[in-house]
Amino acid sequence: MMRTTPALLLFALSSAIQAQMPGMAPAATPPSPVPVVASYPDTPSGQLLKEVKEHAQVVARVERLCDQIGPRLTGSDQLRRAQHWAMEEMKRFGAENVHEEAYDFGLAWTRGVDSARLLSHNGLRFRVDQLAWTPPTKGPVQGELMLVDARNLEELQAFKGKLKGKILLRSNPYDKRPPLPRRNGMDFAAFAAEQAAMTQFLLDEGVLASLSISGRKNGLNYTSGGAGRDPKKAALPTAYVPQEPYKMLLRQVAGKEPVRLELNLGGTFSAKPVQAYNVVGEIRGTEKPAEVVIVGAHLDSWDLGVGATDNGTGSSVALEVLRAFQATGLKPKRTLRVVLFSGEEQGLLGSRAYAEAHKAELDHVQAVIVDDMGTGMIKGFDLQGRENCRALMAQAIAPLNDLGVRELSLRTMNGTDHASFDRLGVPAFAAIQEPADYFEGTHHSQMDFPDHIQADQLVQGAQAMAGTAWELLNMDGRLPHGPVARPRPAERTAPAPAAKP
Ligand SMILES: [Zn+2]
Repeated sequence: MMRTTPALLLFALSSAIQAQMPGMAPAATPPSPVPVVASYPDTPSGQLLKEVKEHAQVVARVERLCDQIGPRLTGSDQLRRAQHWAMEEMKRFGAENVHEEAYDFGLAWTRGVDSARLLSHNGLRFRVDQLAWTPPTKGPVQGELMLVDARNLEELQAFKGKLKGKILLRSNPYDKRPPLPRRNGMDFAAFAAEQAAMTQFLLDEGVLASLSISGRKNGLNYTSGGAGRDPKKAALPTAYVPQEPYKMLLRQVAGKEPVRLELNLGGTFSAKPVQAYNVVGEIRGTEKPAEVVIVGAHLDSWDLGVGATDNGTGSSVALEVLRAFQATGLKPKRTLRVVLFSGEEQGLLGSRAYAEAHKAELDHVQAVIVDDMGTGMIKGFDLQGRENCRALMAQAIAPLNDLGVRELSLRTMNGTDHASFDRLGVPAFAAIQEPADYFEGTHHSQMDFPDHIQADQLVQGAQAMAGTAWELLNMDGRLPHGPVARPRPAERTAPAPAAKP
């Protein structure tokens, strides 16, 4: 017989009320993709997996990070607080050699108050979020909207003399033109130079500000960063607008009556360049302490939400690996090093700085594994074209096969911190994860809150990282290093700076 306590009764009552209220019914939870594992073998990795499954603190840790500290732009006080917290956590989990490593970052940027309201047509106020590292409008500016969907400097020339005092709509989701022919050998530096020349053109023409459409549906906005960490670089106040109001603006500018907008973008730069930091903690190896397996994630985030899935989850998982090693008392043969990077969102800056600073020791890095694709369960790792690492990586994930970690793809993914090591010849792999609403929802949007964490998938992710790390730390074999023959990214695809995890 079931005992009904008053608390349960209350719960039942409130559920009944909710069920009767339209819009309040609890959303149906999709079935979990995580395989059910009834028992774990009494091996070291089995002990680690069991420990994580039964006592993981991964969700509570993300909630603590996000609810107490919040969003963590690199260069911000909030990221500094998060780094101090992470070092305390590492020490609490018995890590040694806990420390920070600094690198030069450039100007910090702080979001201010952003607003937009139409001065014509329907007078709507709508959401705008400033593109980080672009300058403020210095108070509300008023101007006429104009669609300027030029894709390069050449196309921009058609607008010469027509742009003074205008606020631009720079995206055209209805663009029917054939894509621009790809330039031979165009690299990121050339792309960045052209972008800078276009910005200078717009500034010279007297443009007030620029608006782009969010890549997310259903009212979600999106943010990323401009190129303004260098105080000498020219930049235009720029913001993202969710799809619905942006498309309304496009319909309005297609009409005869001028569309007038008041726009205020309040972001500000620091007075001077700042340093940024990576956080490091270790469990020393018992037999080969100079050889290292790096478990990485980035602690920095964007700031429309609180950086729960990008990448509070990966950071929490990396700390969980330390906790599980401590709780089981297992000591690896090689050194486990957890590194929480920063500046990832501005172009993998922290991991690049770390890899450069440790260049002389990279031969001793057995492997780098990085978790940065949200809350979804881990299904395997991208091998970055390193076919010669497949046998040992298969060995490393073998104890996790029953948990759904089976995939070793040759795919090259350059969107997160492992890439900074991969380019220097180190076997460095990003986890392949279930999408779990990441690229459609939480990634860089105002929806990035702990509510969207799927606990069972995140716990599986922690099991996968702990188990894979353990095997890499203790196996006899060493993963082969060296460059990989693959096409240069510029020859395969046009640069897409916004598509980073
Ligand atoms: Zn990320």
